[in-house]
Amino acid sequence: MKAKGLPFEPYRIKMVEPIRKTTKRERQEILKQAGYNVFAIPAEKVTIDLLTDSGTGAMSDAQWAAIMRGDESYAGARSFYRLEGAVRRIFGFRHVIPTHQGRAAERIVFEALVKKGDYVPNNIHFDTTMANILVRGAHPVNLVVDQAYDPRAEMAFKGNMAPEKLEAFLQRYRNRVPLVMLTVTNNSGGGQPVSLANIRAISSICRRFQVPFFFDACRFAENAFFIKEREPGYQKKSILQIVREMFSLADGALVSAKKDGLANIGGFITLHDDDLATRLKHILIIGEGFPTYGGLAGRDLEAIAQGLEEVLDESYLRHRIEQVRYLGSLLEGAGIPIFRPIGGHAVYLLADEFLPHLPREQYPAWALTVALYEAAGVRAVEVGGVMFARQRGRGKKEIFPRLEMVRLAIPRRVYTASHLEYVAEAVINLYKKRDRIRGLKIIEAQEPLRHFTARFELL
Ligand SMILES: *Cc1c(COP(=O)(O)O)cnc(C)c1O
Repeated sequence: MKAKGLPFEPYRIKMVEPIRKTTKRERQEILKQAGYNVFAIPAEKVTIDLLTDSGTGAMSDAQWAAIMRGDESYAGARSFYRLEGAVRRIFGFRHVIPTHQGRAAERIVFEALVKKGDYVPNNIHFDTTMANILVRGAHPVNLVVDQAYDPRAEMAFKGNMAPEKLEAFLQRYRNRVPLVMLTVTNNSGGGQPVSLANIRAISSICRRFQVPFFFDACRFAENAFFIKEREPGYQKKSILQIVREMFSLADGALVSAKKDGLANIGGFITLHDDDLATRLKHILIIGEGFPTYGGLAGRDLEAIAQGLEEVLDESYLRHRIEQVRYLGSLLEGAGIPIFRPIGGHAVYLLADEFLPHLPREQYPAWALTVALYEAAGVRAVEVGGVMFARQRGRGKKEIFPRLEMVRLAIPRRVYTASHLEYVAEAVINLYKKRDRIRGLKIIEAQEPLRHFTARFELL
């Protein structure tokens, strides 16, 4: 009998990788050496790795076959034209500029468009977009709907940008806004989708103010799935039709192929504007590579081209979203505080509610990632004070972000339902002993993106 809600894997397994378990004693030693930062733990010492869904997915047999067809010519490789064709067919923009991953696309676009003192609005900036704007001396601005910060607010499209906030912002700062971005799904806000109605509203404001409008489109297919499921009028449309409609409303997109590209590395910029594309390609040549490979091997371009087609498959997407919901519902059933509604690629634990005895200065979400690894070898990521706090003033006082969460990101096509049950059990057991979890202090950190390399001490 199939248990209620148990997601049926729409694939069978052709190649396997062993998972090795560690003892609690070993994990305590590993944590100490890692400076209590799960980014510093060797992956072999991780039982279930939910650090990220970025580049961690399993490729299909068709992708591996495509890799064998990779054309490694320096210029004009056949594999580039295959990728270009797939991206044009799906996204509908004229130019396709490959990059080695999403943040390279950000760096190149911002180098071309963003000057010191500029503002770049988004629903919520992802950490790398935020960092790439900050290093240019510009300001990332988050204009998501207010409900996005309320972890209990039920809303079908909680990733939406607030049109009235954007309108007011552009009225004041139009001359210092080189582009408006919209992240689908909204990774830093719980993996929540953006509706087509909202995309249309943002697009029309951008047109009126004549500001370029770009998607941060890493999870475009997951976003389209939510539109099909939740937005009136889209139930009968195919995922491809919805994706095309989304992108028809923008001037371009920055994409990390490590998410919905179903590839292990890669990214691209796609856009209409001929002049901007020429400028971007010049910057690309300096830092990434020739415009027909952009920091990737020909075989990577093939894997992405094939992955972009596969990700549009509805049975794949349904299973993907159901897997995340399955983990979320196991946790909710046991009374674990999680961000609602459950998003597209991850379940987010509300660490400040999970660990009410720890003040924000002791980084409760970080403490929870450490405790979860120690208890069960499960690696998750903090999305809270360490990742997003900003230092202000002389004393470098930390201004904490509104949400203090731990993200359990599910890699694509990698884990089965029983793996997710193992994770749920680990979190539930930890919740029973939560008052024993200790806070931490930072002893070493390098800005920006300090979470990748910071070292900590237990308090
Ligand atoms: C992953 C991600 C990026 C950056 O992409 P990388 O390939 O990791 O460099 C940018 N924006 C969002 C929303 C992402 O999830």
